[in-house]
Amino acid sequence: MIKLPIYMDHQSTTPLDSRVLSAMKPYLEGMFGNASSRHHRFGVEAREAVETAREQTRKYIGARHAKEVVWTSGATESNNLAIQGVSHLYRKRGNHIITSVIEHKSVLDTCSFLEGEGFRITYLPVTQEGIIRLQDLEQAITDQTILISIMHANNEIGTIQPVAEIGEVAKKRNIFFHCDASQSAGKIPIDVQTMGIDLLSISAHKMYGPKGAGALYVRSENPRVRLQPLIFGGGQEEAWRSGTLNVPGIAGFAKAFEIAVAEMADESERLLRLRTQLFEWFRKYIPEVHCNGSLQYRLPGNLNVSFAYVEGEALLELINQTIAVSSGSACSQTTLEPSYVLKALGVQGDLAHTSIRFGLGRFNTAEEVMFTAHYVAEAVAKLRESSALYKETQKKLTSSTTV
Ligand SMILES: *Cc1c(COP(=O)(O)O)cnc(C)c1O
Repeated sequence: MIKLPIYMDHQSTTPLDSRVLSAMKPYLEGMFGNASSRHHRFGVEAREAVETAREQTRKYIGARHAKEVVWTSGATESNNLAIQGVSHLYRKRGNHIITSVIEHKSVLDTCSFLEGEGFRITYLPVTQEGIIRLQDLEQAITDQTILISIMHANNEIGTIQPVAEIGEVAKKRNIFFHCDASQSAGKIPIDVQTMGIDLLSISAHKMYGPKGAGALYVRSENPRVRLQPLIFGGGQEEAWRSGTLNVPGIAGFAKAFEIAVAEMADESERLLRLRTQLFEWFRKYIPEVHCNGSLQYRLPGNLNVSFAYVEGEALLELINQTIAVSSGSACSQTTLEPSYVLKALGVQGDLAHTSIRFGLGRFNTAEEVMFTAHYVAEAVAKLRESSALYKETQKKLTSSTTV
């Protein structure tokens, strides 16, 4: 039996894994101490939880030192702290930042804020496949460049950037490399050493952890990165991020990461199988369906497809009581502009309006995928039936083949 509605929007957020909830519970109940209270048991046990979580997180990203992990409220804050923090501390060294046109808004809007302060930003384009070109990156570098900020995996189309190669370029030119790993942490391998990453953003709620918990890795040697804080106060987190630590959130973050890393190989294989099946069914039952972005360099759980002649919003309206998915970017759903990510791929206006993101996750089943394929195929057929443009095109097609 399938329980409706089916949740298939795991790039927006993920449900809390019950094992994560169990790991958080003690810190929501009896162990409520402030991790900065060093002189009694309550504070000490809270501190222990925080430092254990820091050590685990260090290990999962291949960092050398636990103190390089700074706790934040999520990836939005981590991205802001990394980009503003580096820019403000190193502005004497240069005023140029390189990023890409398909970054998350928390990177793009931080960069445009810095533009207002006199920084110059280069927004690298992407190929039709949704990947940056390394030669574009190399050509964009000047002697003023202080930071490269490129995401690991994209939240809309799931495409994966050549992070290790970017890290190599950054290292060669003595430029800091920040990577937004919100979508990739716990899904595909990350190693800040072999990938040459100097700053790395992670969010718990994208990997079956709680909302409001995140981390920023900040390299402390080869090279040492320093930051101008965004938030001032009690001096927690080496004074880089003041504020009483979210102990249950941090415990949940580490447990979520632990599970995701332990189950990564099996889970990504299973999700890839489900995604491949979903796309194969779409192609079998629905004419003119296109996948947006590379299928090869892509998160296993992501499928972003355009159903030609079908308005994405209309399709969503028809199916969203039954299947929870997103059209365009979840964050820009108040505007009816086609998503900037799809535009960057060169997806033409009409087709960009027809896209739906299917984000498969840990608790989706093969039955749910089969149900979704049929349900969506029916909805698409129904909408195309009432599309004058679609009928016109079909008529032309049939007449041209009979001639
Ligand atoms: C979700 C997401 C963010 C923001 O993370 P929050 O923890 O929700 O603030 C940033 N970047 C990417 C790529 C994301 O997917």
